Amino acid sequence: MIIIKSENEIKIMKEAGRVTAGVLEKIGNVLKPGMTTIELDRIAEEEIYKYHMIPAFKGYNGFPASICVSINEQVVHGIPSDRIINEGDIVSVDVGVRYEGYHGDAAKTFAVGSVSDEAKKLIEVTECSFYEGLKYCNTKFRLSDISHAIQTYVESKGFEIVKDFVGHGIGKSMHEDPQIPNYGRPGRGTRLTSGMVFAIEPMVNMGTDEVSVLLDNWTVVTNDAKLSSHFEHTVAITDGEPVILTMVD
Ligand code: MG
Repeated sequence: MIIIKSENEIKIMKEAGRVTAGVLEKIGNVLKPGMTTIELDRIAEEEIYKYHMIPAFKGYNGFPASICVSINEQVVHGIPSDRIINEGDIVSVDVGVRYEGYHGDAAKTFAVGSVSDEAKKLIEVTECSFYEGLKYCNTKFRLSDISHAIQTYVESKGFEIVKDFVGHGIGKSMHEDPQIPNYGRPGRGTRLTSGMVFAIEPMVNMGTDEVSVLLDNWTVVTNDAKLSSHFEHTVAITDGEPVILTMVD
């Protein structure tokens, strides 16, 4: 069941979203070769607590840290550790924040120093694919129109969309109905209505779309060890244009 949010609930989610986006901005500013992924986690956590909010991933199904940090062939759900980030890496950071019982969820892939042109293109296409999906985030369309737009765009650029992990509704729970695949035929699923709030999150691979979970039970990697990129925003459907809630004003 898709839970429709009131204007006031969306206002609270925008507050959570602002801090979520602020954490990603902060990480983009401090990220440099030689840092460890746990350092990023500490910085993110500090930033979230500064606003008296809660890092929503911490303890979620037992996840041991405040953010997910996934490097290179890691797709999502990487666990912060003493791993050192190197020049040329691409680093996907996923942040979840809870405030007054509501959530914000956003992710972004950062290039560390100079990366290959192909890696740059992968990151750019992933971001752009989110905005392709966003075009269908209004009451004229159905859920799978978003999915179809993302897949079509990604494949037109020669990359593969991950099918095993999907976007989701979000509100009082981090993951609510509906599931939002980043692939599929258009014109299916529920018609979008004002007050729906979605975390839309394309994961795009340079090679195969096949992925596996490592023995830590969290880290998702590409099966061919080629690069993967992630981009996510929390988006509210309105009677007019959709509103991205995970923005720093
Ligand atoms: Mg998410």
